[in-house]
Amino acid sequence: MLQFQKLETLLKKVSTSNPFYQNKFNSLGITSSEIRSLDDLGKLPFTTKREFEEDQKRHPPFGTNLTEPLENYVQYRQTSGTTGKPIKFLDTKESWQWRGKVACYILKGAGVTKEDRMLLPFNFGPYTAFWIMYEGGYQLGTLIIPTGGWNSLQRLQCILENRATVIPTTPSYALTLAETAKENHIDIANSSVRILMLTGEPGALIPGIREKLESHWNARCFDVIGMTEVGTWGFQCTEEPNGVHILESEFIAEVIDPHTAIPVQEGEVGELVVTNLGRSCMPSIRYRTGDLVKVKKGSCSCGRTFHVLDGGVLGRKDEMIIIRGVNVFPNVLTNIVESHIGPGDDYQIEVYEKKGINEMRIQLEIKEEDRSKAIKQAIQDEIRGKLNIRVEVNTIPKGTIPKSDYKAKRFIDRRKEGNV
Ligand SMILES: [Zn+2]
Repeated sequence: MLQFQKLETLLKKVSTSNPFYQNKFNSLGITSSEIRSLDDLGKLPFTTKREFEEDQKRHPPFGTNLTEPLENYVQYRQTSGTTGKPIKFLDTKESWQWRGKVACYILKGAGVTKEDRMLLPFNFGPYTAFWIMYEGGYQLGTLIIPTGGWNSLQRLQCILENRATVIPTTPSYALTLAETAKENHIDIANSSVRILMLTGEPGALIPGIREKLESHWNARCFDVIGMTEVGTWGFQCTEEPNGVHILESEFIAEVIDPHTAIPVQEGEVGELVVTNLGRSCMPSIRYRTGDLVKVKKGSCSCGRTFHVLDGGVLGRKDEMIIIRGVNVFPNVLTNIVESHIGPGDDYQIEVYEKKGINEMRIQLEIKEEDRSKAIKQAIQDEIRGKLNIRVEVNTIPKGTIPKSDYKAKRFIDRRKEGNV
């Protein structure tokens, strides 16, 4: 009911003064008054990333998805543009506070309190990710320690000196920090850090990565899921280590068949579609995220009634790949590889085409060469056992895979490059 009231308010505002959605609704001949309950949501059109891109191209610089006069907007962010031209997103004071309120709720869900000290190992650029944690921590009343522009060692020293307890970061960078600590004889497991808020890429929900991070840091990992276009819609509670809650007080989630757009049954894998309820100034209504998810049946022991997505985001719609008739999600492979490799090792998963057939290979960077043969074999065996497919596993020289302090590029699709 609360969801519907918020949706109704949003649609009223949008129908009055948002040219982007006015055009979309007019072209279908639909008015907001026809949406009388949540069951009518399906009458509204989907929104895609491509539409936002084209709108901003035609109406530079900010497009027409603006409900308020331009002078009311106070924050500028943009998407990273990994799959196209970056999209610009503006927030008003009100919508920025909403983003913070969402992050505050998520931090509380992980057990963060105003007693905590949150260190942000993040370069404060135009990307939304950790700005949201900044705003959430601020609203919650934690002490916030920004370390933009610093290197890993400086950040580690800052963690120790100021007894930071919460670190929002990407899983890759949390591992990089742990490796830097080891190289510099810093005992990070005995530091004051007790919580890692992980975002940007799968990590806390991949047992191989979670176990590694929890043992390095001696801290608990929580997954935080969102995207600039809609906001931070997914979070982990303290009771469910294998799933994320959808923050249904602030978002409406639907799960559809990615090909037919028909809703899937509970427990079936489908594409997540999200409507945000707190950004009427630049909303995303029925936004097709491209994320594949599966709603878990039953309730969570934390007492929240919000739905749980089993395994979080299982993969991207465009990354799900069929290898000899088997649907393969990159996350499943990531999990297998992560459970065999050690600290300092790295890997990439490549998909390519050979004689018109999808093939996959795993490129491993193994720190100590004498372990590589056994690891290769173990990974191959586990993939064959679990997925019933044979995958090539190679070792490549150390330093071949580029390192990043944001997201590691683990999955490479070479099919567009032709036969390799
Ligand atoms: Zn829960």
